[in-house]
Amino acid sequence: MEVMRILVVEDERRIAQTIKRGLEQERYRVDLAFTGREGLEWALAEEYDLILLDVMLPELDGLSVCRSLREQQRVVPILMLTAKSQIEDTVTGLDAGADDYLSKPFSFEELLARIRALARRPKALQTERLTAADLSLERQTFKVVRDQAEIFLSNKEFKLLEYLLVNQDRILTKEQIIDHVWDLDADILPNTVEVYIKNLRQKIDRPFPDKPPLIKTVRGFGYRIGGK
Ligand code: CA
Repeated sequence: MEVMRILVVEDERRIAQTIKRGLEQERYRVDLAFTGREGLEWALAEEYDLILLDVMLPELDGLSVCRSLREQQRVVPILMLTAKSQIEDTVTGLDAGADDYLSKPFSFEELLARIRALARRPKALQTERLTAADLSLERQTFKVVRDQAEIFLSNKEFKLLEYLLVNQDRILTKEQIIDHVWDLDADILPNTVEVYIKNLRQKIDRPFPDKPPLIKTVRGFGYRIGGK
């Protein structure tokens, strides 16, 4: 399968790096640009499948970058990142030729959903039902079932379980989990992930004492889920 290339133009380096790391986890190839001018140069020089473009940028703002690319007949999908307070920017952004926008703060899941929608990936690649041993999770209906018993999860627990299942049998660090399950600006305590993993275990492993536990702790590294 061809790897999708994404250009992220964002001057707030911490956010840019977090987005890059997260997208690379999802197997996208990511380049970063920290100013509008740099972003425009990259976008003109390289072939990207998608551009994530912040509005407020030094040297050249995101709207100008967008306009400039469209004037030069670049049809690459552009997803604008706007601040919540800048509704006008959103409208102007769409006028300038952006395909969609996402207002900050956004969750990583939201960002991924928008990227997927813009990339219009073939449906077959998006698995709607995830399973591990006798546990299954349905993304459309939010239904989680183990051994024929329905399990009720909070929104965050569901996202956490979904992320573990997508990466089945891979060890996920606490940092990876936080990047994917929590908002970029969420207040994370040192034990937040432990607490949620514990809650999830109470629901998907504890009620089935005669079954092998699905969530494994890999001491010093992180967590994984799997039938093995
Ligand atoms: Ca900015």
